Amino acid sequence: MELDRKLEILADAAKYDASCASSGAARKDSRGSKGVGSTGAAGICHSYTPDGRCVSLLKVLLTNRCIYDCHYCINRRSSNVERARFTPEEVVRITLDFYKRNYIEGLFLSSGIIRNADHTMERVIEVARQLREDHQFRGYIHLKTIPEASPALIELAGRYADRISLNIELPSQQSLARLAPEKSLDRTQDAMGHIRNKILERRSAKADGPKPPPFATGQSTQMLVGADDSSDALILSRASTLYTGYGLRRVYYSGFSPIPEPSQLLPLTAPPLVREHRLYQADWLLRFYGFRVEEITTQTAPNLDLDLDPKLSWALRNRTAFPVDVNRGSREELLRVPGLGVRNVERILQARRYTRLRLADLLRLRVSMKKALAFLVAADHTPVGLESDTLRLRFLPPPKQLELQFGPPKPVQEDFLSVRSGEL
Ligand code: SF4
Repeated sequence: MELDRKLEILADAAKYDASCASSGAARKDSRGSKGVGSTGAAGICHSYTPDGRCVSLLKVLLTNRCIYDCHYCINRRSSNVERARFTPEEVVRITLDFYKRNYIEGLFLSSGIIRNADHTMERVIEVARQLREDHQFRGYIHLKTIPEASPALIELAGRYADRISLNIELPSQQSLARLAPEKSLDRTQDAMGHIRNKILERRSAKADGPKPPPFATGQSTQMLVGADDSSDALILSRASTLYTGYGLRRVYYSGFSPIPEPSQLLPLTAPPLVREHRLYQADWLLRFYGFRVEEITTQTAPNLDLDLDPKLSWALRNRTAFPVDVNRGSREELLRVPGLGVRNVERILQARRYTRLRLADLLRLRVSMKKALAFLVAADHTPVGLESDTLRLRFLPPPKQLELQFGPPKPVQEDFLSVRSGEL
């Protein structure tokens, strides 16, 4: 098979993995029209390095053959897709070629499992080894590792990669047993624990002491949303465990998108795209705003409100916590005011050392007033209607005329919504 054709198949097969971000961007191509550039065909995506730079990556699979049969995966053993396989040398050649032409700054490499986990891992590592040792490649490398591989191989992968990831895929063992019978939640978390220890070991090495071998600076994972009936509460509590217990940098939420010839165990339609968006917002609240999962979701409402962002939703359920005075409230209290983002709060804390803040000052600090006005007090503002039964209506999106839809549902990945940051 021609190298170009392999690249087409294996870059396309890698697009379902969101754990290096921007995976499903809508395809654009400037051929035959105005403008330059293309996001199609060559498998180039963007990711963020540990120091926050956005880099373009060649995102491919080593092979889309797989001995596992995960029901949600287009590359599963029983799927009837065209298969292809790169040799490590071919991936190295393409990466260097693209790198020298300035198309990419790095590589994201994943693979279906061939023969067994160790054999696959060895081939993935061989690509990274050749790039680093034989070609002195200094670009960014993100390797997808396999939880079933031996710890020594995962460790070796971490030596060559800047970031490694293991996909947990589903938030409970029960869901895995049903949809990905060869996978185990405990095994994946054990592997994540091993990676965390290696990262910490490297980080805590004393400047004047013996230097441990290099190791990736972070790990990430992906969870599928909507392929099973797991609630948002379950998904977020798994994410919270991964952040606090296993030191993950990012959990990516990837809305399940119906695949050709789907398994009967899967739903027929994709979850609403906004669900994935709400999960990213809730994830942001867990990591940067001091919220706990039990606050964002409740026992009676285990799924996030699709109409309102989770912080606003929480504020409406907990009105006794408001109003918060921008001139007196603590950092923690201010972070809970809808419309105030982390940067807004830092700027407010700075500015109020010199003056009593008024609404005009908040506008200058770029506070989202539409949400914040109802929940905060300023020198010239006291909110009204905080107790009102109709307060929620003020924030609901305008009603939409329903459209008649013909034909099959639209695939979600084509207009994947990547939420990287947000002032909630
Ligand atoms: S192990 Fe990975 S590639 Fe193989 S079927 Fe499962 S999700 Fe797909």
